[in-house]
Amino acid sequence: PSTFEYTWDTPVYKGSTSFSTGLYINGKFIDGSNNTTIDVINPTDGKTIASISEGTPKDVDIAVDAAQKAYDTVWGLNCPGNERARLLNKLADLLIEHSDEFAALEALDNGKTFGWAKKADLSMSVDVIRYYAGWADKIHGSTIETSEDKLNYTRHEPIGVVGQIIPWNFPLMMMCWKIGPALATGNTIVLKPSEFTPLTALLAAKLIDEAGFPPGVVNVVNGYGDTVGQAIAEHMHIGKVAFTGSTLVGRKIMVAAAKSNLKNVTLELGGKSPSIIFDDADLDLAVEWAAHGLYFNHGQSCSAGTRIYVHENIYDTFLQKFTEKSMSLKVGDPFGQDTFQGPQVSERQFKRVMDYIESGKQEGATLHLGGHRVGTEGYFITPTIFTDVHPEMRIVREEIFGPVGVILKFKDDDDIIRQANDSVYGLAAGVFTSNVKRAIKTAHALHAGTVWVNCSNTTYANVPFGGYKQSGIGRELGEYALDNYTNVKAIQINLA
Ligand code: NAD
Repeated sequence: PSTFEYTWDTPVYKGSTSFSTGLYINGKFIDGSNNTTIDVINPTDGKTIASISEGTPKDVDIAVDAAQKAYDTVWGLNCPGNERARLLNKLADLLIEHSDEFAALEALDNGKTFGWAKKADLSMSVDVIRYYAGWADKIHGSTIETSEDKLNYTRHEPIGVVGQIIPWNFPLMMMCWKIGPALATGNTIVLKPSEFTPLTALLAAKLIDEAGFPPGVVNVVNGYGDTVGQAIAEHMHIGKVAFTGSTLVGRKIMVAAAKSNLKNVTLELGGKSPSIIFDDADLDLAVEWAAHGLYFNHGQSCSAGTRIYVHENIYDTFLQKFTEKSMSLKVGDPFGQDTFQGPQVSERQFKRVMDYIESGKQEGATLHLGGHRVGTEGYFITPTIFTDVHPEMRIVREEIFGPVGVILKFKDDDDIIRQANDSVYGLAAGVFTSNVKRAIKTAHALHAGTVWVNCSNTTYANVPFGGYKQSGIGRELGEYALDNYTNVKAIQINLA
């Protein structure tokens, strides 16, 4: 395989990178078995920046064999927890050492701003790896009393080889959310990054090697979803698959798991999260957080607060302040000094978002702000607000995954809960109020895996994250994620 080399000389970052573009299997970077490549596009100008090796189902087989061998010999129950912790902590050190380079790579193939990539993606990635390093030597079962004639205890054993399929919106962070708990609990991994944003996974693979993880413990197989992704989901020797991506593909993963070996499945899928602004909210704070909830990561966040419900008493003032805030967000070069929002990740996503904006207009909503492309090259879209929307419109019901929000008016507390819950999704919700009782009652009544009160779109390594309804199955982060990667074995010993 060839080497990707790149040098940045930008207002916010000067530096360079160099790593292999191959598949990382059994501790080596190799070409795909078909010798084909995938072009990686810079969404800022639509130009190709790299060609990476394309994996195939055959390469998945090779990676699974390597992962199984590593599991059976040097990892899993053969590697003590404190050693797994040491390696994970070493990896976290290397991520910190290379954090500018990682942030620049995220800006290059994803289009997120260098500043936010460093502040959000990199710091969260490091936190997560360190957090799970802490768990690695604290995985244990319990003893359970039945009678004095019996000794019963449980062990939380690793599953073995696990598959992980990740999306393009937080490339490195999603990788760390996945590999952290899997490695801490002693599993080996075959991971597929998104074909749109593979660069940080390749640099991470280089550092996983440098950290000293034995060959085969982590394998990175780049490729397309319907080939490599599908091969992982239906593999007979993969015991568990963790997927983050669209609800559409999530369904395919479950079908593939059911039709093959009934592997365990966890899914982190889409959302259409409500933000509810009550009339007793601190308005300036609500505007700041609701804007963060909607526009963070260019709206390409599964938990984006895209349905903003505002109490009628404060609707006009909120709308005015929210509009001013939206207009102040600078869209442009991800390496610009004060850029808030770079391009959407790809031409496909750009078109998808523009189609949704068109559908909003067609269905009779008022395009209150934005709704157009910025510049003539790359995939930039202005922050966009629709008002006068109807609950049946596509822009109110479907996930857009761009900087596009709808603002609705509401009257009473009970009805707003009904409206907020009126979605096939249930990933997250935001509540803005200065009344503690109202905040708690609303938070408890919402059908969502996360409820943010007077804040939005924040995650912590030790706080679980995941969806109700069609937003997913299982929880990532926190202690909860450990359960995704362990089998509980009950041992009963007859002492009579
Ligand atoms: P996607 O579902 O198209 O792709 C996700 C991953 O799945 C990619 O690696 C892709 O190559 C792979 N894939 C595609 N088809 C496959 C198949 N048939 N079998 C196996 N793998 C396949 O999603 P995307 O466009 O990359 O990401 C955007 C979507 O992800 C949004 O809908 C968003 O809501 C969701 N998302 C959810 C979360 C969450 O935590 N809930 C986080 C990020 C993104």
